[in-house]
Amino acid sequence: MEDYTMKKVFGIAALLLALAACNKETEITPVEQPSDSKGITITATLAPKTADAKAVADKGDNKITVTWAKNEHIAILYDKDGAQVADATITAVDGTTGAATISFTVVSGTPDNTACTLVYPYSAAKDDKSGVKDAATLLSAQDGTLNANLDVRVGAGTIRTTTPGLDVTTQPAAQFAIFKFTVKNANASATIDVKPLIITIGTQDYVITPASATSTLYVALPAVSGQTVSFSATGSDSKTYTCSKDGVTFAAAKYYQSTLKMAAYKQLSAATAEDIGKVVGQDGNIYDTKAAATAAGTQAVAMIAYVGNGEGLALALTDEGGMTWSTAKSTCEGKNTSLAVTGGTWMLPSQDQWKAMFKAFGGNEAKCDGLNTALATAGDELKKDGSYWSSTPYDGGRAWYARLIDAQWRFDSMDYSLRVRACLSFTATRVLAEATAEDKGKVVCAAGHLHTAKTAVPAGCTAVGILGKVTETGHGLILALQDATAQTWNTINGWTTVTAYAGTTLKQLPAGALGSLTSYTTLGSTAVSNWCVAQKSDYKAIFVNLGSTTGDSEGKTYDGNVNAYITTGVGGTAISGSYWSATEGDYTIAWYFASIYWYYSNKKYSSSVRPVLGF
Ligand SMILES: [Zn+2]
Repeated sequence: MEDYTMKKVFGIAALLLALAACNKETEITPVEQPSDSKGITITATLAPKTADAKAVADKGDNKITVTWAKNEHIAILYDKDGAQVADATITAVDGTTGAATISFTVVSGTPDNTACTLVYPYSAAKDDKSGVKDAATLLSAQDGTLNANLDVRVGAGTIRTTTPGLDVTTQPAAQFAIFKFTVKNANASATIDVKPLIITIGTQDYVITPASATSTLYVALPAVSGQTVSFSATGSDSKTYTCSKDGVTFAAAKYYQSTLKMAAYKQLSAATAEDIGKVVGQDGNIYDTKAAATAAGTQAVAMIAYVGNGEGLALALTDEGGMTWSTAKSTCEGKNTSLAVTGGTWMLPSQDQWKAMFKAFGGNEAKCDGLNTALATAGDELKKDGSYWSSTPYDGGRAWYARLIDAQWRFDSMDYSLRVRACLSFTATRVLAEATAEDKGKVVCAAGHLHTAKTAVPAGCTAVGILGKVTETGHGLILALQDATAQTWNTINGWTTVTAYAGTTLKQLPAGALGSLTSYTTLGSTAVSNWCVAQKSDYKAIFVNLGSTTGDSEGKTYDGNVNAYITTGVGGTAISGSYWSATEGDYTIAWYFASIYWYYSNKKYSSSVRPVLGF
């Protein structure tokens, strides 16, 4: 009993997905249908001259060129005593017509005229050989590049075994629409580099994660009719960008070019003190005004009233009413079910939380005037003649409340009915300006955030360095992730710009001496020196703070503990070799550090440089 080997020439060649007319007036522009008269239907055309050419290509001619390529695989699904799959290999592609010759083997005894399903690529066939995998499985994770994975095709045929052959009754047809998205800001004045881009259709998320943030992404999506399509992306500026469009229709086997006009919103977790007074949408994003939240399709639920040291508070826009202390607590906590906010937790404010919110608007510990001025535009003011419960007990039967009329804190029986206003508690991003000695070793990004070390920096953030030293007065040094250009100490000494940092002197590197480092003058809202060479005492302090156990009688140098901060999660280059400090020995020598010792060398010799940023 021998298996049959068959060859079949597909009667089709390069498959063209024609241009969709672009409507660049709307926020999302994939909605316009290409007209059939523009050649949407599959037609034969010339194939590339080389059979091994890229299978899917955008040649800049407003269409996606799709060709069969030699050695690609197609699954032939059929039934013979149960579901079977034959692995059909494209053995040749006609250089003139683009037609593909495939070869595959079916099990012996397969009856003549057995129906089959063709699935391209082979990997798109279901593991149980019952057909093509669903769109969610095939498309939920993409990388934004135009590749063969975007071109999934299904056809049908009849396997002949008496006279071996394959009759293709339905040529393999593309299952998905292919989009070329260009991401721009809300008024389309600039492109936005994003990573990732998340497209939501119904309950299904399609997550497009490019290798690095980019404004141009190719995406395959299943055909939809009259549905809402929502887009969310993280920009390289750390902001969250969103847009949405109702009533969207697009078809499989068509190519759409689309500009996404996306508005930027920060998420609660990215809130800084600059966001105090802005409102929080139920979607967990921060909006300038209540109206802006409404325009974005969400509901303003709270106003940011305090941000500091990684914690944030947003006060609800309305009172809950008058109630006893225990009911006040359960009512506020109940909002986590009735009015859940992404990234926040509803609670009755504690006495300290109330004080923090009053103070953030210039009040004293119970003076609400500043807070009320901000609330007047965002929502309802606190009742100036009212008393508001805090969650802080005074004793077993009494609790603290703020008496606003005279700005006093009082306590009284928990059974009394007093006014209640809930607040949202959330974790905010700590920023460089808030750095304390406890933040040593954290990763500093270009936005000025302090990120947890030795883990991946969040999408949209660019790591700049490792926080190596923080003084009691809030100054500090950030150690670079890369070396600057190797150079002589005399060159360093010749630099005329000197930046004072917490009593020491940094030697500032001119742009030409930075090598591949990017120049910085600010990290977020914190002003920093430009890249500098630090004094010997500063480098030693940084190495101690980053856990070095290596050095000599002159002090610690770098080791694997130090390099772990530089290389893990942030992709820096390990310190290796000998590095100048800015500290002079005498008129001919200066101090440098190597892996296990501090020593001095003639200033005219070239050595490595690992700069720092002061703040
Ligand atoms: Zn960041």
